[in-house]
Amino acid sequence: MPETKNKTILIVEDEPQNRKLFRDILEFNGYAVIEASDGRQGVMLAKEHVPDLILMDMQLPVMDGMEATRILQQDEQTKGINIVALTANVMPGDKDKIMEAGCYDFIAKPFRLHEFLHKIAGYFGRSHPKSPTK
Ligand code: MN
Repeated sequence: MPETKNKTILIVEDEPQNRKLFRDILEFNGYAVIEASDGRQGVMLAKEHVPDLILMDMQLPVMDGMEATRILQQDEQTKGINIVALTANVMPGDKDKIMEAGCYDFIAKPFRLHEFLHKIAGYFGRSHPKSPTK
């Protein structure tokens, strides 16, 4: 199993219940978790903490997930962080836009817990990240 200890994940999610769910399951599995509730706060916390992974909801207030991703991918300090889009109701073409914005992968909501954790662990197991969705 890939090492999960000392890995920090930033969750950018506006639904408090979803945020709590992500935090609970990730912390239970040994990850350190930081939370943001909108895109602008997400960008701010990503620059401040430089997490190992970002789970980015796409539908967010203040600044949406796609714009936040673009900003982080253009920033020297944060462009190396893998950003995984969290999406509900993905339409054809949305996936391309999400990947073009600089996301590394996406996870559709709702998700199966086991698959979710397996995916997260897998991101840390690759020494040379490669998008599994392409
Ligand atoms: Mn949302």
